[in-house]
Amino acid sequence: MSKIKLLSFDLDDTLWLSAPTIHKAEQAFYQHLQQSAPALVAKFSPEALREHRLRYLSAQPNLRHHISQWRIDSLRQALIESGYGEQSAVMATAAFEVFITARQHVLLLEHCAAVLEELSKNYVLISLTNGNADLNRLAISSHFSASYRAEELGAAKPAAPLFLQALKHAGCSPNEGIHIGDNITDDICGAKDVGMHAIQARFTADAPPPHPLADQHFNDWRELPALIRQLQAKL
Ligand SMILES: [Mg+2]
Repeated sequence: MSKIKLLSFDLDDTLWLSAPTIHKAEQAFYQHLQQSAPALVAKFSPEALREHRLRYLSAQPNLRHHISQWRIDSLRQALIESGYGEQSAVMATAAFEVFITARQHVLLLEHCAAVLEELSKNYVLISLTNGNADLNRLAISSHFSASYRAEELGAAKPAAPLFLQALKHAGCSPNEGIHIGDNITDDICGAKDVGMHAIQARFTADAPPPHPLADQHFNDWRELPALIRQLQAKL
């Protein structure tokens, strides 16, 4: 009988809701630019800056898996277009630092921290994110053995590398691992493709219905330990 050893977790919309977090970080980012780059703000509204960033990605699609670099490079380009010339690189890096610092101010979902602490006593916990949240800046990181980001590996979920990295770190086979996340393609299908089990987190107002490929689903963190035990009992 195999035993569940690894629990890998998505972060955004699984441990916290991402929309309010990103919204506040975007606000802090733009407020910083109002102070530091008035010529850019005169040229780009927050919405126009977002559109500029998306256009930049169309021209540099390889940045899709390097979302922090994407934000820095596209802002540098917008600063150059606003007349900042050689200062643009330093200014873009400083503005990104404001964004990424605000990005870490997450509000954990109810009961999440206590349940993670409980689970960490019996399983290896690893976080796998396509985003640029930095788990190491949060107190809950003490419950995790490792955290991997797509931008560090150069490959995002649903591709296999993040999942395989977690399995390698935990030293277990796919059948001994459960991935927990909200996104059907990235989390559920991605985990299933490498042979792991998958539990669907359903916390956002527009969360998709329980997916047939998901072994379990939950919308209250207190439910998770029992769901893991039920999965274990079927192995
Ligand atoms: Mg997510």
